[in-house]
Amino acid sequence: MMNEEVWHLTNNFGILDRLPVGAMVLSSDFIILFWNKCLEAWTNIPKNEIVCQHIEQYFPHIMQPKYAMRLKQIFAGGPPTIFSAQLHKHFIQAPLPNGALRILHTTVSPVPQGDRPGYYALVVLQDVTDVTNRIQEYRVMRDRALAEIEERKQAELALSQKTQELEQRNFELTQLSKMSDLLQVCLTVEEAYKAIAATVQILFPDISGALFRIDEAGEFVELVENWGDLFADLKSFMYSDCWALRRSQAHWVTQIHPSLMCKHIHSQPGEYCCIPIIAQSQALGLLYLNAAQPGKLTPDKQLLVGYLTEHISLALANLKLRETLHYQSIRDPLTGLFNRRYLEEFLNREIHRAVRKKLPLGMILLDVDHFKQFNDNFGHEAGDRVLRELGQFLQKSIRNSDIACRYGGEEFILILPEANLENSTQRAIQIQQGIRQLEIRYDGQVLNRITTSVGVACFPCHGATAEEVIRAADAALYLAKKQGRDRVEVA
Ligand code: GH3
Ligand code: MG
Ligand code: MG
Repeated sequence: MMNEEVWHLTNNFGILDRLPVGAMVLSSDFIILFWNKCLEAWTNIPKNEIVCQHIEQYFPHIMQPKYAMRLKQIFAGGPPTIFSAQLHKHFIQAPLPNGALRILHTTVSPVPQGDRPGYYALVVLQDVTDVTNRIQEYRVMRDRALAEIEERKQAELALSQKTQELEQRNFELTQLSKMSDLLQVCLTVEEAYKAIAATVQILFPDISGALFRIDEAGEFVELVENWGDLFADLKSFMYSDCWALRRSQAHWVTQIHPSLMCKHIHSQPGEYCCIPIIAQSQALGLLYLNAAQPGKLTPDKQLLVGYLTEHISLALANLKLRETLHYQSIRDPLTGLFNRRYLEEFLNREIHRAVRKKLPLGMILLDVDHFKQFNDNFGHEAGDRVLRELGQFLQKSIRNSDIACRYGGEEFILILPEANLENSTQRAIQIQQGIRQLEIRYDGQVLNRITTSVGVACFPCHGATAEEVIRAADAALYLAKKQGRDRVEVA
């Protein structure tokens, strides 16, 4: 029976000997009925030997359920099935000349048994080794290309980040130089602090902050400017409450630099830093920055803070110097009152204003009586003490818009913008009487009281220029002296 079947099949499937694919036919009891030339060549198993043998003898793995079950479906006439080269590379072990096994793509189709019911399984095996290898090579190539693209993307990303960083640095430098320019033209420390605060806010968006000034004695730290919403309630604190001031160096309390919190910090900031503003080895102020979330005070920002405080320190030192020079240039060193130079400057401005606004301007000229005598009696130093006390008294006796100047040795002049002759005279009388009451001590003894002679004049009623009005006041003063001193005379 079997031989007949084999003969029959050999006749019917002989054509398969000519194809470059492996082909075998299995009966439903797993007996090999046909084995083509290609398989002979691939496996080195001759047809004569293998035909009529149970497949398990040569290829036992085919009896594993994953193959056997599907073959059984074929024997029952089920649809063709494929054992793909990816999952079932070696349905049959067919070595290549180099010893590696061929990668096979296996198709199994049912073939009717002809006169009897039931089906054979026609197994066709394609050698896809080359294709698979090429696909594999292609995959490697593709992966390499993708990796390269990814690398290039990363490089581009890094480049664009660097460019952004560069732009940011550029922006920061521009802001710093703008700030420096502004600071150059600031006239007071207050103005400077405003300019600094504005710049810091631009450079450190979403970071709260404050600028503090240190008092002359170097004991107290006072709030000048603050911004952002995080800032704590403290308006002033002791110098010693700040680690940055105590150590004369920036104090960072951040995730990367956890450190002791300064005593002046009462709320719990996410991260903060205190940077002393030092000029000519003297701490002038303190910059305080405070971020709600950690990670905002990055190393970049820390570097920037360094540059910033350098700029600020330099500018403030210059400003302080300028302020000192300006103060020295317009003040009389003995009394601290304005000097004659400033008087001229002030009068020029105020007369202009008085003309424009059609307002009067009062002038009071005072001269200490018999001061030469006083010096002779008590000594020149006692005389100096009197002049200093007199200066303080005059400064206290005028309003903010008025000025008191030392006009000469023991001569003083008060300028009262917007005061008419009547007001000025009243003020002169008050002041003149006040001076008479002054009790001045020197070297443990109470000095003799001093009196003054006073001349009052007014713009525009006593002259059209500052000089004319001063001359009028001087004439009134001369009259007061002539009339016996210790009195006020009106021009
Ligand atoms: P009177 O004005 O009442 O006519 O007499 P007087 O003695 O005040 O007038 P005089 O102009 O003769 O002298 C002014 C004196 O003021 C001379 C000088 O000793 C004194 N004096 C001027 N400047 C200073 C100063 O800076 N310190 C001291 N201690 N004395 C000064
Ligand atoms: Mg005099
Ligand atoms: Mg005098």
